[in-house]
Amino acid sequence: MVGKRVTGGDGREEDGAKVGLPSLDLSLAFPKATPASIFPPSASDYYQFDDLLTSEERSIRKKVRGIVEKEIAPIMAAYWEKAEFPFHAIPKLASLGVAGGTIKGYGCPGLSITASAVTMAEMARVDASCSTFILVHSSLVMVTIALCGSEAQKQKYLPSLAQLTTVGCWALTEPNYGSDASSLRTTATKVLAISRIMVAWQPIGISMGAFDMCHRYLKERKQFGVPLAAFQLNQEKLVRMLGNIQSMLLVGWRLCKLYESGKMTPGHASLGKAWNSRMAREVVSLGRELLGGNGILADFLVAKAFCDLEPIYSYEGTYDINSLVTGREITGIASFKPAALAKARL
Ligand SMILES: Cc1cc2nc3c(=O)[nH]c(=O)nc-3n(C[C@H](O)[C@H](O)[C@H](O)COP(=O)(O)OP(=O)(O)OC[C@H]3O[C@@H](n4cnc5c(N)ncnc54)[C@H](O)[C@@H]3O)c2cc1C
Repeated sequence: MVGKRVTGGDGREEDGAKVGLPSLDLSLAFPKATPASIFPPSASDYYQFDDLLTSEERSIRKKVRGIVEKEIAPIMAAYWEKAEFPFHAIPKLASLGVAGGTIKGYGCPGLSITASAVTMAEMARVDASCSTFILVHSSLVMVTIALCGSEAQKQKYLPSLAQLTTVGCWALTEPNYGSDASSLRTTATKVLAISRIMVAWQPIGISMGAFDMCHRYLKERKQFGVPLAAFQLNQEKLVRMLGNIQSMLLVGWRLCKLYESGKMTPGHASLGKAWNSRMAREVVSLGRELLGGNGILADFLVAKAFCDLEPIYSYEGTYDINSLVTGREITGIASFKPAALAKARL
């Protein structure tokens, strides 16, 4: 291989010849385990959460699920392995018609908060990166413009952002100020509760995807002459994952209802985000165990879900900081700064 330059992450040289070993053909390596590029059917709605949704919310959920399963699932593992974003898929994401979420007018969809949250979970079920892309673009960038922008700024930016012909990013944290947001040198004028609700729904989606994958895998793969699903220990893990998902869904749904009725407090939003990301950590960790060695391959989703959950545990306020926001609300005592430095702001 000396003298030949490798041009990209796919291992190809300039003359098109492959470098090193060919990529693993999963259908040959694991003929009895379907990879996540053919996404598993949804099996996690055990308490019939769909019944809590309006027909409009159910139909957008179904539409988003269909499109991301078809368009994103087949490509996500390869892009994740390359640490690249599939920019060519942005028009497909635009076709979901969800950018702008709850914003009314300016070409935005004007969804209910629940519909917006459910679509976030449906995207995260298949690919957390795409859901984060839409979340930042929609619930941070667009909502900030809709809440704080001038009429001219709304007219100028929102329509193309809703079409995803313009892509937004949002900067709050600075190198020296992460959790300590109150010390930021750039002043953030409004805290956007809506984005915390959306982030609380991402762990739900990630967990649903991991569960669906494990549910199919355990029935397909055999050891000791029987499907993995026949082992009692595996069933207990699968059921624990399912139980966590039901509790996360109900927390997420209730959060939306509190927001809609104007009763949601910062503590409510923070508890939802903290609780769901903590529950989801257990779900993906159990899923990773259930898949054995394939639990560390992106192709079977769970390893990817495991890693994708970690930034969510930390962004939009870490688990700790969100717990302290709720802690302050229920005790009346702020504990962000060590007592010795805080001059007792009780
Ligand atoms: C993938 C990813 C995407 C991101 N996207 C964005 C974005 O689009 N825009 C943006 O502005 N930011 C973004 N962030 C930044 C994110 O919001 C910060 O990482 C987060 O707020 C934590 O800040 P930090 O990383 O500086 O950690 P630190 O604040 O340094 O915290 C380190 C640890 O100390 C703990 N800790 C800190 N203070 C306290 C305290 N008072 N009490 C108890 N424990 C404490 C934390 O919980 C954490 O465990 C992103 C981060 C990630 C990982």
